[in-house]
Amino acid sequence: MAPSHDYLAPYDLTGRVAVVTGGARGIGFACCEALHQVGATVIVADIDGPGAAEAAEKLGPDRATGVALDVTDSTQVDRLAADLAERHGGTDILVNNAGIARSETPAEEVADEHWRHVVDVNLNGLFWCCRAFGRTMLGRRHGTIVNIGSMSGFIVNRPQEQSYYNASKAGVHQLTKSLAAEWADRGVRVNAVAPTYILTELNAFVKENKEMYDAWIGHTPMGRMGEVHEVAAIVLFLATDASSLMTGSIVLADGGYTCW
Ligand code: NDP
Repeated sequence: MAPSHDYLAPYDLTGRVAVVTGGARGIGFACCEALHQVGATVIVADIDGPGAAEAAEKLGPDRATGVALDVTDSTQVDRLAADLAERHGGTDILVNNAGIARSETPAEEVADEHWRHVVDVNLNGLFWCCRAFGRTMLGRRHGTIVNIGSMSGFIVNRPQEQSYYNASKAGVHQLTKSLAAEWADRGVRVNAVAPTYILTELNAFVKENKEMYDAWIGHTPMGRMGEVHEVAAIVLFLATDASSLMTGSIVLADGGYTCW
C-alpha cells in the first residue's frame, strides 16, 4: 500500500528563493548549506560583502549569490527585498540569523552605544527584515520566516553578564510570536530557533577562558556545546512545509540547558 503522505517531498526546495542574513559564516553559513543542499536558490546576505561572495562561491556555481547587507539599515533591507521580488518574483524563505553578542559587561557598566548596537542588530535589524520580506510574502500569501533567537531569551546565562544580549533575544522571541499571530491566516509562518552555546566566532572568547567554558558545559545536561549543523537542521525543518502546522514556535535546541 502506498503511504498516505510523502514525508520527504517538503524537503525538496527546488525553485524556492531563500535569504540568510549574516550568512557568511557560523550558524548562518550552515543554514545556507542546508537550504542549498535541498535545492533552494540561496542569497547570502552579510555586512561583510566579500565574505558573503566567498560563502556563495563555496556553496557552488549555481543557485547562490552573495550580497552586502547591513540589517540595521532599513533602506538597504527594503532595497534587497524589492530587488529579489523583481528578479525572482519574491522570496520564499527568510532566515534572520545576523546577530552580535559583545558579551561580558555588567549592566551598570554598559555604555549607551553598546546597548544600542546590540539591540540595533539583534532586534531592530531583524524587524526591518521581517517587515520588508514579510510584505512581499504577504502579497503572494506564501512564505516562511525563521528567526535565530537564543536560550538567552529564556534564561540568564552564567557566569557572563550580558543583559543587552539576553533582552534582545527575548525580544526576538516575542516578536516572532506577534508576527506569527498577525500573519498566520495570510500564508506566512514565523518561527524561531533558540540554541544553546555553539562554538563560532561570536563566542570564540570562551576558548581563552577555561573556567567559563567549564561553567557552560557544567550547566548543560548533554555536557557539550552544539554544532552549527545541529541548528541548521532545525532551521531547515522550520523553513519547509514539513513544519506546516507550526507558527509562533520558539524551538529550543539547548542540550537540556533549560531543564536545570
Ligand atoms: P558569527 O559571529 O559567527 O556570525 C554572524 C555573522 O553575522 C557574521 O558574518 C557577521 O559579520 C554578520 N553580521 C553581524 N552584524 C551584521 C549586520 N548588521 N548585518 C548583517 N550581517 C551582520 O555568529 P553565530 O553564527 O555564532 O551567530 C548567528 C546567530 O545565532 C546570532 O543571531 C546569534 O545571536 C545566534 N546564537 C548564537 C549562539 C552561539 O553560541 N554561537 C547561541 C545562540 C544564538 P561580521 O563578522 O563582519 O560582523
